[in-house]
Amino acid sequence: MATVPCAIRSPEIKFTKLFINNEWTPSLDGSSFTVANPATSDVICQVSEAKQADVDKAVFAATEAFKVGSKWRQMVPSNRSKLLNNLADLIERDRLYIASLETLNNGKVFKRVYERDLPMVIHTFRYYAGWTDKHHGKTIPIDGDYMVYTTREPVGVCGAIIPWNVPLIMLAWKVAPCLAMGNTLVLKPSEVTPLTALYVASLVVEAGFPPGVLNVVPGFGAEAGSALSHHMDIMKLSFTGSVNTGRLIQKASADSNFKNLTLELGGKSPLIIFPDVDLDVAVGAAGVAIFTQAGQICCAGSRTFVHEDIFDEFVGKSVERAKMKKIGDPMDVDTDHGPQINKHQQDRILAMIEQGVKDGCTLLCGGKKVEGLKGHYVQPTVMIGMSDHMEIARQEIFGPVQLIFKFKTIAEVIERSNASQYGLIAGVFTNNINNAMTVARCARAGTVWVNCFFALNANAPFGGYKQSGSGRDLGEEALDAYTEVKTVYIKTPPLV
Ligand code: NAP
Ligand code: MG
Repeated sequence: MATVPCAIRSPEIKFTKLFINNEWTPSLDGSSFTVANPATSDVICQVSEAKQADVDKAVFAATEAFKVGSKWRQMVPSNRSKLLNNLADLIERDRLYIASLETLNNGKVFKRVYERDLPMVIHTFRYYAGWTDKHHGKTIPIDGDYMVYTTREPVGVCGAIIPWNVPLIMLAWKVAPCLAMGNTLVLKPSEVTPLTALYVASLVVEAGFPPGVLNVVPGFGAEAGSALSHHMDIMKLSFTGSVNTGRLIQKASADSNFKNLTLELGGKSPLIIFPDVDLDVAVGAAGVAIFTQAGQICCAGSRTFVHEDIFDEFVGKSVERAKMKKIGDPMDVDTDHGPQINKHQQDRILAMIEQGVKDGCTLLCGGKKVEGLKGHYVQPTVMIGMSDHMEIARQEIFGPVQLIFKFKTIAEVIERSNASQYGLIAGVFTNNINNAMTVARCARAGTVWVNCFFALNANAPFGGYKQSGSGRDLGEEALDAYTEVKTVYIKTPPLV
């Protein structure tokens, strides 16, 4: 594997205003908010704060850009493809800068952002660039003298609201299919992590997209997010975030114009380890599944189910590994474990651990904040002795807390692992094909990972069962969400 370059420790902050109609503009009432570095708590900069009136302005720009006769509407699909490929090339050109900026703003370890997140972002744009002229309709045979066909048309002005935990990846998952299908978009990044979205917006101009096609309005959920989700001129909204906010978004759609929704919500995903595995491989994978990005990943393997025959050894090795993690500055290339996003999340995670212990769980390592570091660090934590109904076993922690459960039989573990309000991921490690197939068939989850974890790819759909959401990002499936189906009946002369 190619070596990872050193991060740019203090990447220059170039864009801090709203991006509307390919221009940088302060918010109409002059408001701004503070953006901080989670690894140090230091202020990075002030960013303009979008309110209702700014969202209206962005939606107006997106509406104008979508009008029949506009440059964007007249653009042939192969040129849309070129622009998306241009954008991918520009992100690739600036990969080191963008990865450094993401680490500065989000606190996730630079090595992973550079090696995993950026390539996925670039590939997502290239993948959807290939789709601009390939999302076909059908011709449909019916009784009578008709020709019937369907076409896929852009939905129109879309909105996207994304969370702080994977800002660039979420941006790519929403922007690429949306623009590939010829829509226009107003994107609200999380107010906690707006910096990379603003930088990518600057590349949109350089790539050659016409004004108004992509607009970025950083702001708070309750104001800018709410304005987008209630907007009468937004026809489709794609949301990634928590279940509670997802509920508000669905309600806002019903209360406004029934805009189409894609909801990608939380998870409490099981990872099932059978006794036939290579123990070190499985322990390593289960650690990656929960400790990556300090546990702040929707698809984290946050409930590790381990067969009783290997339970004690598995737990011992997991604790050993958790204790070995190098905690520190996420900009350092050898850091394994970075901070939580902010104090609120840090406090929430520590409170959930404390409650777990009060409820009777056994804390084997971690469970505290990391002393001596200014950022919002939580020690890698391993716990056992949970019962399935405890709060800690059911609620998303969104932190570096590995919960290891013991199981006896495959039927039991399938039932227990499915007994969750969530259904985003199910993981399984085994060398027994029958066990793997049974788990894959029975899991009530949108994605199943067999002998792997975090195997995400733009080409394959991603989304949740149950309260993990509805609709799919990625793959061909995402295109359906960004298009309307139009059915055309043409009366034909009878056969002669
Ligand atoms: P969140 O609080 O739900 O926020 C997500 C986004 O919604 C943010 O941009 C937020 O704005 C905005 N928002 C908040 N209140 C809103 C409202 N009333 N109306 C409209 N928008 C509103 O989630 P988060 O804490 O940022 O992210 C963590 C959650 O996201 C976790 O539950 C995680 O599992 C989930 N997640 C899911 C996936 C997936 O693909 N399934 C991927 C990543 C994360 P602010 O800027 O004010 O926060
Ligand atoms: Mg939030």
